[in-house]
Amino acid sequence: MDRDVVIVGAGVVGSAIARELARFDLEVTLLEAAADVGAGTSKANTALLHTGFDAKPGTLEAKLVRRGCELLAEYAARVGIPLERTGALLVAWDDEQRREFEGIVERSRANGYDAIRELDADELYRREPGLGAGARGALEVPDEAIICPFTTPLAFATEAVLAGCDLRRATPLTGVDRIEGGFRVDTPGGPITTRRLVNAAGLRSDEIDRMLGGTAFTVTPRRGELIVFDKLSRPLVKHIVLAVPTKVSKGVLVAPTVFGNVMVGPTAEDVERKDDTSSTAQGLDHLRREAGRIVPRLLDFDVTSVYVGLRAATEHDDFQIRFEDGYACVGGIRSTGLSASMAIAEYVRDGLDLEVAPRAGAPELRMPNLGEAFPRPYQSAELIERDPDYGRFVCFCERVTKGELRDALAGPIPPVDLDGLRRRTRAHMGRCQGFWCGAELAAMLADV
Ligand SMILES: Cc1cc2nc3c(=O)[nH]c(=O)nc-3n(C[C@H](O)[C@H](O)[C@H](O)COP(=O)(O)OP(=O)(O)OC[C@H]3O[C@@H](n4cnc5c(N)ncnc54)[C@H](O)[C@@H]3O)c2cc1C
Repeated sequence: MDRDVVIVGAGVVGSAIARELARFDLEVTLLEAAADVGAGTSKANTALLHTGFDAKPGTLEAKLVRRGCELLAEYAARVGIPLERTGALLVAWDDEQRREFEGIVERSRANGYDAIRELDADELYRREPGLGAGARGALEVPDEAIICPFTTPLAFATEAVLAGCDLRRATPLTGVDRIEGGFRVDTPGGPITTRRLVNAAGLRSDEIDRMLGGTAFTVTPRRGELIVFDKLSRPLVKHIVLAVPTKVSKGVLVAPTVFGNVMVGPTAEDVERKDDTSSTAQGLDHLRREAGRIVPRLLDFDVTSVYVGLRAATEHDDFQIRFEDGYACVGGIRSTGLSASMAIAEYVRDGLDLEVAPRAGAPELRMPNLGEAFPRPYQSAELIERDPDYGRFVCFCERVTKGELRDALAGPIPPVDLDGLRRRTRAHMGRCQGFWCGAELAAMLADV
């Protein structure tokens, strides 16, 4: 066999699994069809680190989100993934919604999360003065947090690569067969034989599962559109403002981002195509109306960008994780995969039943900070004195310096396009959407 484990899909889930397995004495390959790590659903979500307070009790998702939240909060602090524990306020806008509170608190307690508590309308408006009129009260969930969705999968994949994992980008699995003692995985670069196979292919996890005879689930992409408001609106929103969920949807939320913006979304609509990340006039209208209702003054600010993510929804209410003779299917990781990623990785490690020793000397990792709440290179006189490139802005909107761009381009998993550079540095994602810096960024990319 060429490899001990092949993991298919370098989203946040596959990358977390690669990181976990690379800590052991194993030959691991991580295959990614796209040009980069974290470029699928993992780059287009609401970027909340959920406590799991509202998960369906007793499900695998409930268990893994709860554990994943603890693991990722600790890991983020250790390696420098921006995370802010803003807390969430789940707001009732009428008496009927307020009557739902009792059930939500019960569910939270059943999930082992007891810190949830009710606030009356006066306290709610004291805590979140920018809210629209008419709120009846809220449930406070103090441990819900905002996190960087870009740095998280990159940190996992970088740690895996530094520990010896063989990352192959732009390398899709095109076919797979069971063979004596393992699997033969076909790729455009030739076949790879492996003892174990992990299917973490997100929206395509059902297709790969079917290649191995699986029939347990079908992925239906569920589109979520989001609007990002200009940074000047950030003081308007202090917490993650959640809606009372209905039977069909969790509703639209308003939340700060770690980059210093305010985000509104997502919508929820089943679509046919697994690559249909187009936004719609109808979806954006709905989000603007919701923004104006929840935090009316948001509409005084410009929209910096809109984006769309596709949830890997299935006909089931839970994650679709199962193990069969060296095969791990990790599918249907719909709305909470960022939060659960590290716990999914632990669960897969145990499920694969690997009898191997931990590798000595784990790599020390420190990711570049992209968070607005933490010191950035341009703010450090000492750093700029040592290397003036940290004082030379290339992207003025997001205050990204030449030094940071240079470091990203020379990193262990260098970007191959502008989007990859954006996710590693924030360049190109500000107000001007690259009008100012686009040409210089393209030139820097072309130079490497
Ligand atoms: C609108 C929205 C909001 C969300 N908000 C949150 C949130 O606030 N908090 C949270 O925890 N979660 C949230 N989620 C869910 C979270 O984003 C997902 O659960 C998570 O990103 C799934 O990660 P993944 O690695 O399974 O999938 P992906 O990120 O899609 O990764 C799968 C990868 O597999 C690759 N692949 C596919 N086929 C092949 C092949 N044949 N060969 C090789 N590679 C292949 C793809 O290119 C892709 O990169 C949200 C999702 C959406 C859409």
